[in-house]
Amino acid sequence: MRMRIAAAVAALALSPVAFADCTVEIEVGDSLSYNTSAIEVPASCENVTVNIKHTGSLPAAAMGHNWVLAADADWQDIANKGAAAGVAGNFLPTGDDRIIAATKLIGGGETDSITFSTATIDAGGSYTFFCSFPGHWSVMKGSFKLV
Ligand code: ZN
Repeated sequence: MRMRIAAAVAALALSPVAFADCTVEIEVGDSLSYNTSAIEVPASCENVTVNIKHTGSLPAAAMGHNWVLAADADWQDIANKGAAAGVAGNFLPTGDDRIIAATKLIGGGETDSITFSTATIDAGGSYTFFCSFPGHWSVMKGSFKLV
């Protein structure tokens, strides 16, 4: 099942990807892009797990990526405020309740995973996932929906 999802992600790059189970596989590399621009997860998922894999070779300080989820209305302000946190702080403001979920900032060859509750996410609501590395989030983002 996991292999089939990964294959589907590769085939549908930059198209909405509906994940049949509650686990989302994300790949990033030495460029400013995710392997998908739209993620749809069943609303029946009480928890969602996002696994992020950096297939590039550059270190986090040069080409770090993370996966951060917030409401459409909040994400840009979170990204702006996160710049001051630096690489060590994953370029995210600490204690910001508007952050629904966030992985660590990772570099080439690294992986991370985050599992979060969907209790605060409205089915059909508009949410954005993004990389909070300064300069990345203007292009490195996509939509997240419970469907
Ligand atoms: Zn990035």
